[in-house]
Amino acid sequence: MELSEELQQQLEDWSRWQSAGAAVDNSYEVAPEEFYTDVLSLAPGWKIGGWTRWGLTDPVPRACSVCGAEAKPLLTIATTEWAADGESWIPEEDQADPPQQLPGTPPGNFTGLEVARGYDLQLHTCPVAANHPHIELIQ
Ligand SMILES: [Zn+2]
Repeated sequence: MELSEELQQQLEDWSRWQSAGAAVDNSYEVAPEEFYTDVLSLAPGWKIGGWTRWGLTDPVPRACSVCGAEAKPLLTIATTEWAADGESWIPEEDQADPPQQLPGTPPGNFTGLEVARGYDLQLHTCPVAANHPHIELIQ
């Protein structure tokens, strides 16, 4: 959602994926940009830094309330380490031998934390001054 219009159009071009020799399942032919979103772009799970996995809302400005600088992601606290519909982020050893989890927990939820019914909490900080207030974002 934060890519330029030009990059978004390139991702929507099925012939580009084919000419690149990318191992894209033909089920993505209708909307190849979804392959990028589902498999290649933003790693789910807990992380330091990175980018925001928009989905609950469209991208919103994250300006520091003191100086106006664009706040940057510092920490993501995720409900799951991978999306239930995608295997690309599951470590190979876990694909072969899935770790034991408590009954009723979503796949990839190893902490037992559930953020806002299955979303992620991301803390953003001001790149100008660490003592400026942080921003909390649920996505
Ligand atoms: Zn600031």
